[in-house]
Amino acid sequence: AIIETGWNLDNSYARLPKSFFTSLNPAPVRSPKLIILNDPLATSLGLNAQALQSNDGLAVLAGNRIPKGALPLAQAYAGHQFGHFTMLGDGRALLIGEQITPLGKRFDIQLKGSGKTPYSRRGDGRAALGPMLREYIISEAMHALGIATTRSLAVVTTGESIIRETDLPGAILTRVAASHLRVGTFEYIAKWGTVEELQVLADYTLKRHFPGVESNESPYLSLLQEVIKRQAVLIAKWQLVGFIHGVMNTDNMTISGETIDYGPCAFMDAYDPATVFSSIDIQGRYAYGNQPRIAEWNLSRFAETLLPLLHVNQGQAVKLAQNAISDFAGLYHCNWLVGMRAKLGIFNEELQDESLIEDLLSMMQKYRADYTNTFRALTFDKPEDTVLFGTVEFTQWHELWQARLERQQEPKASSQQLMRNSNPALIPRNHRVEEALEAAVKQGDYSVMERLLDVLSTPYAHSPEQGDYSTPAAPSTRPYRTFC
Ligand code: AMP
Ligand code: MG
Ligand code: MG
Repeated sequence: AIIETGWNLDNSYARLPKSFFTSLNPAPVRSPKLIILNDPLATSLGLNAQALQSNDGLAVLAGNRIPKGALPLAQAYAGHQFGHFTMLGDGRALLIGEQITPLGKRFDIQLKGSGKTPYSRRGDGRAALGPMLREYIISEAMHALGIATTRSLAVVTTGESIIRETDLPGAILTRVAASHLRVGTFEYIAKWGTVEELQVLADYTLKRHFPGVESNESPYLSLLQEVIKRQAVLIAKWQLVGFIHGVMNTDNMTISGETIDYGPCAFMDAYDPATVFSSIDIQGRYAYGNQPRIAEWNLSRFAETLLPLLHVNQGQAVKLAQNAISDFAGLYHCNWLVGMRAKLGIFNEELQDESLIEDLLSMMQKYRADYTNTFRALTFDKPEDTVLFGTVEFTQWHELWQARLERQQEPKASSQQLMRNSNPALIPRNHRVEEALEAAVKQGDYSVMERLLDVLSTPYAHSPEQGDYSTPAAPSTRPYRTFC
């Protein structure tokens, strides 16, 4: 019997004005092979994992077959890259359609690496296996950490080589997102579209992501405020787990509040706000400690695009936008502080909590303590044999912290539970990710990656078998570098 794959696609984006996108089909590939499939995600989307693995199912994931109801298109967008405005668009990705799940939710299904589009500029429209698997691993790790993110349904190889510094195996990632609306989408329409088109885009966004505020007195101001809120939540979560996005250009900031574009991202080991991994981020614009400020900068670009919709009077519109933007820093800080209190097992609020947190962080920086493992050790009150834990400074801080915990009603056990739920046992360590990719790409051995994905799927389990995966890389003279 034929098992239905379960595609249930709608194409609301294709019904938007023609200037928003270009319709086109993926470029067929020679011999698709499934490398990895996300069974639980498939199920939650209403897709049958077994049917996806059949020849017909696989052909869809490779762009060789268009599923029923699909209207593939490349989305147009612009963006500020490292501060400079540019026209961009889906240069190597296509939106196949929007899957309506059994629960009635709508998710973009996008093929990344599916061939050239009118927005490819000088690119070949293709993607290499290593980076697509890297996106799969890290995006799924982020999801497991409880951080809003685009997800990865599958990676297939194409059977074709792509030319980079050397020949690399080509691959296609199926990306799943609440939507692919970006700050850059608004920048594109605000720059080259009409005010009517801008309003169409804003109304579409409200309907899709913020249905509760559609009927507000000033829905477009609410749109701005809601996006600011979501980004404040998101960036605080990044900071709390030590995630460095690496390329926070405005085209890589979603309106939905999901993390998107896993290129040069990586997790911080030793705590240092200046940490940068991206090989192209020479100035450290997107360093760990700069992420909140950059988010605010990006949101200001978003606010500017909305000015024509905020008020008939330009001066009034600017004032409204500025007010909204000025809330970001406080919102972010509030989310961060709540999260940091939880990481230290603190339930209530005291004025000095912030200095308690700052003192710990500055000691961590001074003694180059591993960010994740320091909090993990505090969680189990098992200060490991590190430089930080051997200092008098730390002993004094530890006493203050313990006294702080005693001043709250909740028992020690509750604090520990809170800490367990707030401090991951492990993150996708850079050397572990590299090891998994190397085995996969060079040896065709996917078992290392599968094992890694497995332990990363329950980061708060604190189970014994995760132990090895929490060890930071051995000190190296070569700093870890990532690429777009
Ligand atoms: P990113 O730095 O990943 O945000 O990408 C910036 C822009 O470059 C986007 O418009 C991408 O679609 C485009 N791009 C990246 N890689 C390629 C490629 N291999 N072929 C065509 N376009 C690409
Ligand atoms: Mg991008
Ligand atoms: Mg990218």
